[in-house]
Amino acid sequence: MSKVNILIVEDEKDIIKMLEYNLKKEGFKVSDTRDGESALEEARRGHPDIILLDLMLPGIDGLEVCKSLKNDPKTSSIPVIMLTAKSQESDKIVGLELGADDYITKPFSPRELIARIKAVLRRANDKGKLPEVFQAGDLSVDFSRISVCVKDKPVDLTAKEFELLKTLLQAKGRVLSRDYLLDTIWGYDHAMEIQTRTVDVHIRTLRKKLKSSARMIVTVKNYGYRFEEEEE
Ligand code: CA
Repeated sequence: MSKVNILIVEDEKDIIKMLEYNLKKEGFKVSDTRDGESALEEARRGHPDIILLDLMLPGIDGLEVCKSLKNDPKTSSIPVIMLTAKSQESDKIVGLELGADDYITKPFSPRELIARIKAVLRRANDKGKLPEVFQAGDLSVDFSRISVCVKDKPVDLTAKEFELLKTLLQAKGRVLSRDYLLDTIWGYDHAMEIQTRTVDVHIRTLRKKLKSSARMIVTVKNYGYRFEEEEE
């Protein structure tokens, strides 16, 4: 198997060094660019398997880079993970709306980043496929029998709660917006009074029922939710 090729777009030397060291150790092939213009050039020329994109860059900023990448058929399929600062919460949401695949907030541990990279690559390879029985941490979901267990005890979910959980699992760690969840699960038959708040209400009851497994459903403030698989 050929090595996974990662393009780092970042202007801070120390961060590049840290990323290169850790990613190479993990067996990835790494290249880097320091600004938006060369990032776009390099993405078109080298077609990396994944791009780590810092949002604060000299020249064209990360969001513009993300937009250009996702609008160009030559580069639109390359997964993008945004590297953001705490103060860039709203930029992160804009980035997700522009088509970025994931984000990670600085400061992050190399281990956390590598887990994200692997999840994004896995998603790119097998879209939406799930095993018949899904297991993570204390949670076990049997899709054919439509049954859910936490610590081997059955959990009684409503049809909507089950759909919600299934949709989050199918996304394999990708952040889903509340609007997306509303459209997917409630579809067109939703009445006027059903709004994005409905999603929050169902998430709340779902979390309550999932007990110790509830923490795997992560809130992305002002945007939506993701399922973050716990390690064994
Ligand atoms: Ca920067």
